[in-house]
Amino acid sequence: MNQDTTKIPQATAKRLPLYYRFIKNLYSSGKQRVSSKELSEAVKVDSATIRRDFSYFGALGKKGYGYNVNYLLSFFRKTLDQDALTKVVLIGVGNLGTAFLNYNFIKNNNTKIEMAFEVDESKVGTQVGDVPVFNLDDLEEKLEGQNIEVAILTVPASSAQNITDRLVSSKIKGILNFTPARLTVPDHIRVHHIDLAVELQSLVYFLKHYSEDDTEM
Ligand code: ATP
Repeated sequence: MNQDTTKIPQATAKRLPLYYRFIKNLYSSGKQRVSSKELSEAVKVDSATIRRDFSYFGALGKKGYGYNVNYLLSFFRKTLDQDALTKVVLIGVGNLGTAFLNYNFIKNNNTKIEMAFEVDESKVGTQVGDVPVFNLDDLEEKLEGQNIEVAILTVPASSAQNITDRLVSSKIKGILNFTPARLTVPDHIRVHHIDLAVELQSLVYFLKHYSEDDTEM
């Protein structure tokens, strides 16, 4: 994200891509304005939070009029740096890694997985989606001179820290960690941890123990 947004609270910043996706769809369908209620129903964020979030963007909705879709779209484009492509590397071409390579993220986010790394010789040298799979031994060499800023880790937990330590010396600024390992990184690297097994378990727990009224978190 660009410099102007440094004052936006982190919780708000995390919702930006969600808002952006919806606003883009509205724009494509020719809609010119949207109320916080409509937005709230679509993105499942309560409308008071939406109004507060949008006030940080300088987007002030008018009662009975709503927000200007054009304005919001150009704000999100600029803020999320949608003109610039963010390059991504993926490490570990197992089941999950393969799914990400086939999906890639270019359609939604202007992020693209440029290359992948593996230890399994049968996968090294292949292409998954249109992404080449290289040998993990060549990680530093291949990343050298590339402007790749994000790494996705879909390796077994036992190798995650070791790979992270190797990434620290590259230009990587962010790691999306799908392994259960808790990673230690220097301050200039940001880690987002997505443990799918824990998320699933927590969902099941909430379904069992909380009534419909208080499931929203
Ligand atoms: P997933 O967890 O993605 O469903 P999986 O069950 O197929 O994958 P895992 O054992 O989790 O397999 O390993 C994921 C992938 O990471 C495998 O393809 C494995 O060869 C690869 N891998 C294992 N160790 C490393 C490593 N140190 N560096 C890169 N890739 C690795």
